[in-house]
Amino acid sequence: MKNKGRIIFEGYAIADVLVYEELNKSRQKSFDQGGNEYEKFDYARRSAIKSFIELYESTLKTLGEDKASLFQTYRLMAEDPDFEDLVRSNIEEGQSAIDAITNASKQLSDSFAILDDEYMKQRAVDVIEVGKNLVNVLLGNNQLIHLTKPTILICEDLAVSVLMKMDRKFLKALVLVKGNENSHVAIFARTLELPTICGLDYFQLSSSYGGKPAIVDAVTGCLITNPTDEELSQYKKLEKSYLSETGSLKKYIGKPSVTKDGHKLKIYTNIASALEVDNVKKNDGEGIGLFRSEFIYLASKNYPSEDFQFNYYREVLEEMNGKEVIIRTIDIGADKKVPYFNIEPEENPALGLRSIRICRKQPKVFYTQLRALYRASVYGHLSIMIPMIVSIDEVNFFQDMVKQVKADLKKEKIPFDDKVKVGIMIETPAAAIMSDDLAKHVDFFSIGTNDLSQYTLACDRLNPALRDTFNKKHYAIMRLIKMTVDNAHKAGITCSMCGELARDPEILPFLAAIHIDEISCSSAYVLKTRKLLADIDTKTVDVNKYLLK
Ligand code: PEP
Ligand code: MG
Repeated sequence: MKNKGRIIFEGYAIADVLVYEELNKSRQKSFDQGGNEYEKFDYARRSAIKSFIELYESTLKTLGEDKASLFQTYRLMAEDPDFEDLVRSNIEEGQSAIDAITNASKQLSDSFAILDDEYMKQRAVDVIEVGKNLVNVLLGNNQLIHLTKPTILICEDLAVSVLMKMDRKFLKALVLVKGNENSHVAIFARTLELPTICGLDYFQLSSSYGGKPAIVDAVTGCLITNPTDEELSQYKKLEKSYLSETGSLKKYIGKPSVTKDGHKLKIYTNIASALEVDNVKKNDGEGIGLFRSEFIYLASKNYPSEDFQFNYYREVLEEMNGKEVIIRTIDIGADKKVPYFNIEPEENPALGLRSIRICRKQPKVFYTQLRALYRASVYGHLSIMIPMIVSIDEVNFFQDMVKQVKADLKKEKIPFDDKVKVGIMIETPAAAIMSDDLAKHVDFFSIGTNDLSQYTLACDRLNPALRDTFNKKHYAIMRLIKMTVDNAHKAGITCSMCGELARDPEILPFLAAIHIDEISCSSAYVLKTRKLLADIDTKTVDVNKYLLK
């Protein structure tokens, strides 16, 4: 059975399953720790600190200081006198050591979580993790997972310390049924290049999967339980070709992205969070072509402040070290709902208040984002991109807002880069059709084929019943793409593509032949696309084949 989730790190795995939660439960029953509650707490704390020190040292050797420092933070939290006082006063009130630790870490976490500071919010997650580590000592769960054969580990979520203590030689894939892309374990999974998926909304975790084979397809984001013989043999072939292909791609690192006949284009990457920048660099992305900034808003409980956003954008720009970073402004709406934006329920949200339309209704929110972006602009090579444009009015609106932000920063003597390019996404048929006019007002275009296809074909991109009708390679779309690229070039501006179609091997020859300037895809596809490009001779590409039925 196929269960859909989201991808944390790409790859395939076929192996027997180990269900981690069940392992915890059986251990919980069998352990009885002696001593009074204060002694139990002291014992748990000493053991956890010892294990954090060991984890720090082993992670330092394998993944470096950056990743290892998390365990230093855990150690400091376990040693923290405020934490100790809270646990002791909970015990004084009659709580067991386990309850006292759990409640103390929850109390501290709540006090961190309400602060409008992303660093403290992360500490709120960390202190819960530290509490769990102490409790696990008392439950006799040493959190060691012994793997003796290739294994797919399935769990609700996983503490990063458990992952790091594991002998990962046999760990083939990780499924975090309730986990998410921004957790520490997700960051470590990416660093370890471990095929991982998360957020399987309709999957019921059960011990009955343990010991049985499964398939993790972290290329399309699926867990296949109880696979048929046919699925097993199909995925064995897929895994084999995927591994040989990814291995052979390394030789393209550092090489230019150029066709056989010498036509150069840039291969950028799409990201949704600063956590992905490591992978951009590892896969030799030449820049970031789409940074979906709305994920910052989606991850916040309230409007993220200017300072928070400034620091976030600055970090990405600095990490990219002078390479271009195109940050797309708020693309909230449709399937990306954020409660604090207070958007009334809509009959057709994909055709409703979205992106720039929200910015016009809530100009202060847009102003705050633009200020944060311009303040960050001096720390790297920033470009700004506005989504969902359908009119020149909207362009005038954001241009005025940009002027206002620059004037205010100048008045306040806050430095910014005056040469930041401001472009728009071409992702509505209206924008593509009037791209000749739009090109006179902006610095660049980026074609968003996911929405351009949705709106051109009048097909909800999320509706599985329309999978056959939602043909992103429809020749009507190809015509709009060519028209947009031609109009951009006529006006002397560049045109890129950041929708999913940009990494489609069938469409790449067409894109190269119409001289698109840049394509942007997730980092896992950069080298693959560079390799494909090297085999394309644009002189032999029949462009009409794509434009006519
Ligand atoms: C697109 O529409 O093609 C695009 C890149 O934006 P998103 O998928 O985030 O809507
Ligand atoms: Mg879009």
